[in-house]
Amino acid sequence: MFCWIVQIHGLVQGVGFRPFLHRLAQRFGLSGQVRNTAAGAELLLEADEQTLGQFLAAMRGEAPAPAVIEAVSVRKSDRPVRGGGFHIAASREKGSRAETLISPDLGVCPDCLRELNDPNDRRYRYPFINCTSCGPRFTVVRDVPYDRARTSMARFPMCPACAREYEDLSSRRYHAQPNCCPVCGPRLTLYDADGHETPGDALETARRWLAEGKILAVKGLGGIHLACRADDMPLVETLRRRKGRDARPLAVMCRDMVAVRARCLVSPEEEAVLSSPRRPIVLLERRDAQPDGLSFTRELGVMLPYTPLHTLLFPDGVDALVMTSANRTHLPILCENEAALRALSGIADGFLLHDRDIVSRCDDSLVRVQDGEARFLRRSRGWTPAPVPLKNCRFPVLACGAEQKASFCFTRAGAAFLSGHIGDLKTAETFDFYQEQLAHFKTLFGLQPIAVACDLHPDYLSTYTAERISSRYDIPILRIQHHHAHLAACMADNALDGDVTGLIWDGTGLGDDGETVWGGELLCGSYDRAERTGTLRPIPLIGGEAAIRGIWRVGLALLLEAGVPDANRFFRMEDTVTAQLLLRTDGGTATSHGMGRLFDGMCAILGLLNNATFEGQGAMLLETAAAGADADAAGSFPIPIEPDENGLLVADWREMVRLAAEARRAGVPAPLLAARFQNTLVELGAAMCRAAREKNGLERVVLSGGVFQNRFLSARLPARLRAEGFRVFIHRRVSANDEGLCLGQAMAAIHSGVI
Ligand code: ZN
Ligand code: ZN
Ligand code: FE
Repeated sequence: MFCWIVQIHGLVQGVGFRPFLHRLAQRFGLSGQVRNTAAGAELLLEADEQTLGQFLAAMRGEAPAPAVIEAVSVRKSDRPVRGGGFHIAASREKGSRAETLISPDLGVCPDCLRELNDPNDRRYRYPFINCTSCGPRFTVVRDVPYDRARTSMARFPMCPACAREYEDLSSRRYHAQPNCCPVCGPRLTLYDADGHETPGDALETARRWLAEGKILAVKGLGGIHLACRADDMPLVETLRRRKGRDARPLAVMCRDMVAVRARCLVSPEEEAVLSSPRRPIVLLERRDAQPDGLSFTRELGVMLPYTPLHTLLFPDGVDALVMTSANRTHLPILCENEAALRALSGIADGFLLHDRDIVSRCDDSLVRVQDGEARFLRRSRGWTPAPVPLKNCRFPVLACGAEQKASFCFTRAGAAFLSGHIGDLKTAETFDFYQEQLAHFKTLFGLQPIAVACDLHPDYLSTYTAERISSRYDIPILRIQHHHAHLAACMADNALDGDVTGLIWDGTGLGDDGETVWGGELLCGSYDRAERTGTLRPIPLIGGEAAIRGIWRVGLALLLEAGVPDANRFFRMEDTVTAQLLLRTDGGTATSHGMGRLFDGMCAILGLLNNATFEGQGAMLLETAAAGADADAAGSFPIPIEPDENGLLVADWREMVRLAAEARRAGVPAPLLAARFQNTLVELGAAMCRAAREKNGLERVVLSGGVFQNRFLSARLPARLRAEGFRVFIHRRVSANDEGLCLGQAMAAIHSGVI
């Protein structure tokens, strides 16, 4: 019989891991103890060698579902375990934080739901029920190790009944840090539109108000939502108007799978993702394929209730609620009671709030299920702050991300920790949130980066942040070209080494000359460098920034460049005259190689939209329109690729634009042309990759950039490339858009040779 010290690294805090080990030790009849350390968990065990082996095998095989065991190290101890039996020891305060993992928030589990609906249970209809398998985690943690005292549950001392469960090994709430009940835990309060507390049962009144068609602010796990009936379109319009929200689709929370199926087509894989403990919003195809006030696309973003409060919120006869982040457009999701009462005055008809603080706000994650896997459009609640394991990641660095879809990541040996969704740094509130989260991650994970990476763009606030950190801590700063970072991100996402071809299609990003805007790029390279092999013929942006929203300007520029006669007839007269004048007289009109701009321009030419209310709307509309045509029969436009004087391959879209304009004038329906345009991009992507293969012999292709969140391209281009013998890699663990960029920046910095 020896005493062993077993160090367990991985996601083992906040997921019922210590109670699990305790039960396991009892089953094996072993004495010892377990405690959380900043590094994970430390187990002391008295056992002979054979039993220890069996114990560890059982530990790996039977660990609770949310736990992730990354590494286990065992050594013999010369000191015996004090006393008999097994116990859970107090957390060790000291020790390195540099290896802690904190569990993401977990959706309410079936056991808790059963109790919630049991009239004889002491937590019957208690909206904060949780256990070791479910409940708040990251959003309530102030510091590590993960213990109640260091969460926003610290102000709710457990009542004797809860304390007994907490101490009772056989209880599901044994050492459940946020354990609470109606006697000792958080409470709901309902305020009316003027911010006055309402008497009576807050939950019952809130349900009645929802049923009556009121718009309610509801405080959940990672922030405050605005909720209203999803079956009342005038009400949904009122919500949009009050919130000042652009045309972006609204997410819907369905009571259960029956309600989801009533609205959408759901595959078994989609159902599994919807009902997983992570509970993201999943984009599903609608049964009727009809756009409405909820979404102008054929898809609907749907989620299931993920907190007990949400499950209790549905009034009788209402099986779907709009659940959209409560914020004014472009601002981060609200999370504080006082701030919500102020900011949402005039927007919400009532406020259902509670007194458990949200330490870190965390938006709902948004995914689409493709090939049986969840693909991120937004990686946040349910995943943040779980690590993304990385191969060849040797140093701790901080990567500051881009700007519009800002995110950052810290690396340490073998993993990256990405922030959740932050938003566009150009608003002061969002930039504050970004900086808050940077500081919080630094504390939680004890990270001390030896270098900081950022975009090449000098004006991004993320770049400014990197510069400040670089000079404050005297560490090197590495400025990584945007599309190279995308390539590196997709490589890292797929644990690739060596050289690859990268097809990087997005809306914008500063080129390595520091002047031109790229975004339709063919790159060849690896983490340490990338060569620009091909691109799109530049697109004039008439009016500069104005062309990002005024996409008709891009359409007009495409038509004029392509030599289409009477181009202005496609759009409104008074605007086009000025625009033509600008294009003719202003030799310095900005241009962009961005694939996102080509989508915008084509969308306008096809008559689908002239002015976008948010970036990417044009592309979404084209995708939606194309679904109304038979893509296989739609054919494609020619899009020749010719080398320029420097050997850079340039895809010339002019012939395509001419033909599309002619077809449109001849009355060919827009859906057919939208499908033909997207088929053209599949052909273009394949031709680009073939050209790279001829030049460099590269068979592996990574696809990255926001354009690959387009359903059509992300489904058809990989299939097409595989059919031509390529090995294709797409994003799986981070988003394809700029939210995943920080991962590539970090890996490019690590391999730069500078650190
Ligand atoms: Zn539970
Ligand atoms: Zn209690
Ligand atoms: Fe990008």
